[in-house]
Amino acid sequence: MIRSKNIQRPQKVLIVDDQEINRDALEVIMENDYDIIFAENGAQALELMRHHKNELSVVMLDLIMPVMDGYEVLVTIQDDEELRGIPVIVMTSYEEAELEALRLGAADFITKPFDVHEVILARVARIIELFEGRRLISSAEKDGLTGLYSRNFFYEYAERLYRYHPELKMEAIVLNIDRFHTLNALHGREFGDRALMTLGDIIRDFLREKEGIASRFDADRFAIYCIHCDDHRALLDSFQAKMDEFSPKVRIHLRMGVDERTEDAEPVILFDRARTACIMARSDFHNPLRLYNEDILKKELFDQRLMGDLRHALADGQFRVYYQPKYDIRCEPPRLRSAEALVRWEHPDLGMISPGTFIPLFEGNGLITLVDNYVWEETAKQVAKWRKKFSVTLPVSVNISRADIFDPDLTDRLCRLITDNGLEYRDIKLEVTESAYSQDADRLLDLIHSLRHIGFEIEMDDFGAGYSSLNMLSSMPIDVLKMDMSFVRNIEKSETDLRLMKLILDIAGNLKLSVVAEGVETEGQLKLLRDADCDLVQGYYFSRPVPANEFEVFIEKERERSVG
Ligand code: C2E
Ligand code: CA
Ligand code: CA
Repeated sequence: MIRSKNIQRPQKVLIVDDQEINRDALEVIMENDYDIIFAENGAQALELMRHHKNELSVVMLDLIMPVMDGYEVLVTIQDDEELRGIPVIVMTSYEEAELEALRLGAADFITKPFDVHEVILARVARIIELFEGRRLISSAEKDGLTGLYSRNFFYEYAERLYRYHPELKMEAIVLNIDRFHTLNALHGREFGDRALMTLGDIIRDFLREKEGIASRFDADRFAIYCIHCDDHRALLDSFQAKMDEFSPKVRIHLRMGVDERTEDAEPVILFDRARTACIMARSDFHNPLRLYNEDILKKELFDQRLMGDLRHALADGQFRVYYQPKYDIRCEPPRLRSAEALVRWEHPDLGMISPGTFIPLFEGNGLITLVDNYVWEETAKQVAKWRKKFSVTLPVSVNISRADIFDPDLTDRLCRLITDNGLEYRDIKLEVTESAYSQDADRLLDLIHSLRHIGFEIEMDDFGAGYSSLNMLSSMPIDVLKMDMSFVRNIEKSETDLRLMKLILDIAGNLKLSVVAEGVETEGQLKLLRDADCDLVQGYYFSRPVPANEFEVFIEKERERSVG
């Protein structure tokens, strides 16, 4: 018989059987080729396996034994990271038992009473060869943290499944953890790692019942290639429930993107689409599950079109800056104090596109800096023009996006606006969205310190909409807090919202920050805000954002009032 044999050291085999006669029989068959150790029951076997885990080549396991039977051993091994890699050959006399054993992870089986010796030796040799080969690649094959496949191996296996088993209706599932970086930053890397490992275990459990494979691509990006599921909502809910069990206090939100359109799509394409669906789920906090469909495809094509058109549109002057007034409501009647510059895209074919459509897209890929620079320059020119025309300066705030913060020229660029247009630093105010604060707090802190030192005023935009904590407020050097419009919307109807609004005003008061309330649409909201000592108000009640020429009406009115 030909088989590869380790010449230096015989391979170690553990024989587990409660019957002495069986142990002896196997010893006779195998002793010339292997180094053999024995156990009489499952408990002993596990003990020996743990002790010899690095030398054991194979375990020959009886199923029916006292103390602990073979099934229990198999189950235990399956759940044990260290023992899982040791192949087990089950020895049995019942056919049904074989099936059950294979299902529980046995590598092969041998029937009792024992077959022809050569058959046994061949089977043992084959299993050892198979597993040693597998163990060699297993380090490159698996992600060290979760034990799921690495991305490359995952795709290789997925491609193989796709090619050789087209009859299996496989689908792609992508799973992310919402704001994973924030979770890491707030609760530590160790917590983050444990969350990832837990999710890995949850997915592995799922794949015990469902045929498929899984991978952690990187960070918090998980991929599952499995037989079509009927109810993805239920699947995500069950995953989420298990994550909640792991971390009941700090809620870890999962989101899921699926491409179930399995017909004739290669895994790579399937996963691209599932990933797109998952990204779209991110923008919708209340709906963490997205299936890839025609709408998403249309949106993708639309986004690509916008990205393609951007540079030409900037050169062609298709972007317009609109201005929305901010009124001081501490006086009666309220007085115009400043404005916010808000961009619009007048697309020659697609019509007017609102920033809600293209800003998130351009923020995602950094193109936003091009738009922002354009808006800042237009705004600075406009402020200079108005000063000349009306002999008063109306300060205007511009939006600074998260991506701008990484522009190393940001400070220089902003300073040039001021000097080139003969303005004062306080004439252009900077609105930085609250979510930027939680993302890269240190970097932002430095930047804001230096911008304020130069003389710019900083407004924290969308305050309350994100996750930043109140104590962060006290460490952030800002001048103005812009209360997110979600707080204002229902103050007339909801007692809770009213209390929240007042609470924010209280805190801001203690920190000596002035507050701008956004999205004020009604007289009633205005009155409640005024009663709560809010300083400034911006919203449709006074005006929608309007083009520069229309905005001049507000400046003229204000001038007449102060003159008259
Ligand atoms: P934002 O900075 O929070 O701007 C306020 C948004 O609220 C504006 O939407 C404004 O039109 C809207 N708004 C004002 N008053 C009311 C009101 O009473 N009711 C309601 N329902 N809405 C009101 P807009 O112009 O569509 O801008 C959306 C977002 O796009 C802005 O939110 C801002 O984050 C971003 N954005 C706009 N222009 C720029 C820009 O030039 N650069 C950057 N980076 N972002 C911009
Ligand atoms: Ca803003
Ligand atoms: Ca805002």
